[in-house]
Amino acid sequence: MNDTSGHALGFDAGALASAAIASQPAYAPGEQPSDGGWLKLNTNENPFPPAPAVVEAVRRELGETGASLRLYPSPGSNALREAAARFHGLTPGNVLAGNGSDDVLNLLVRAFSDSSKPCGMLDPSYSLYTVLAGLNGARMMAVPVDIEGRFDADAVSGCGANLFFLTNPNAPLGVAIPQETVRAIAARFPGILVVDEAYAPFSGADAVPLLREFPNVVITRTFSKAYSLAGLRVGYALGAPEVIALLDRVRDSYNLDRLAQAAGAAALGARDYYAGVIEAIRLARDQTTDRLRASGWRVLPSQANFILAAPPPPATAAGVFAALKSRKILVRHFPRHPVTAPFLRISIGSPEEMRRFATAALEAAAI
Ligand code: PMP
Repeated sequence: MNDTSGHALGFDAGALASAAIASQPAYAPGEQPSDGGWLKLNTNENPFPPAPAVVEAVRRELGETGASLRLYPSPGSNALREAAARFHGLTPGNVLAGNGSDDVLNLLVRAFSDSSKPCGMLDPSYSLYTVLAGLNGARMMAVPVDIEGRFDADAVSGCGANLFFLTNPNAPLGVAIPQETVRAIAARFPGILVVDEAYAPFSGADAVPLLREFPNVVITRTFSKAYSLAGLRVGYALGAPEVIALLDRVRDSYNLDRLAQAAGAAALGARDYYAGVIEAIRLARDQTTDRLRASGWRVLPSQANFILAAPPPPATAAGVFAALKSRKILVRHFPRHPVTAPFLRISIGSPEEMRRFATAALEAAAI
């Protein structure tokens, strides 16, 4: 007996799924509208194109006919690993390339957590960590962060997690954790400490020097934000060779495609271009912060490529979000967390985009 979809009656895929998967709500990514005309300030993408050398490297990889695509890519993303190692003054054995840093985060959860090895994170921070832990049947130990970005470092060291995600700068707050605090946690936390540095290129500070001292530290990096390559999916982890070797055992054998590998390696070579891009974004960020603050908004001090900003009462985040959306400007609102509920997270676009955003946001908040 079949129902109208052609499936056997009584078939229930959910009942057949593993308990962890059946009970885990999916991660909700920011909206990616399919129609044109939007000012997208909702997923922390970069408003500038990738470096010309990156575009050239992708074209070269593709060739005239695309014939290279017949062949599998380098399984270990070797040229990209070497480029990342050179960039950070490390060895290729310290690097694992991922299909975006989300891939790397997933590999870390699979390699270092299970039902008796919990994960930990700052709360609020990147909500994907909770989803990945849940899918792997691991508990999540949450250490609260206040709206100034403050938290109890001893609570991190003692939370009982086997794998802890320290997001620096924090997302969605944008606030940076001082490197002395990261160091103190690395020295005392007994498990794997992941410092998620998705936004670190905008802050100018990083935990790379800690890798020489602490074999339990793993740093994750992405090309999606500072390098304008969100559409290609490239990221990597830096860590001790024995940690990287474990992650290598878990990953797909060909986890990065040819174009992503070529683009990532070229991007790390285009330092001057990206220094200019990052400087322009930091400038637009600070100008937007000043403009909103001058009109009574509360804006957290950001070291990232986004700001967390609350409109002055009686305007509300939900009201301004809706007013902006009606003008085809997309930002992000996280209404379910008490710390973030009064705020909007606004990705930093080009100076011109930020002028358009600020004019619309100030109008919306004044109504
Ligand atoms: N970490 C944090 C803190 C992020 O905000 C993001 C972007 N959503 C990522 C990692 C993932 O970046 P990607 O997978 O694009 O490299």
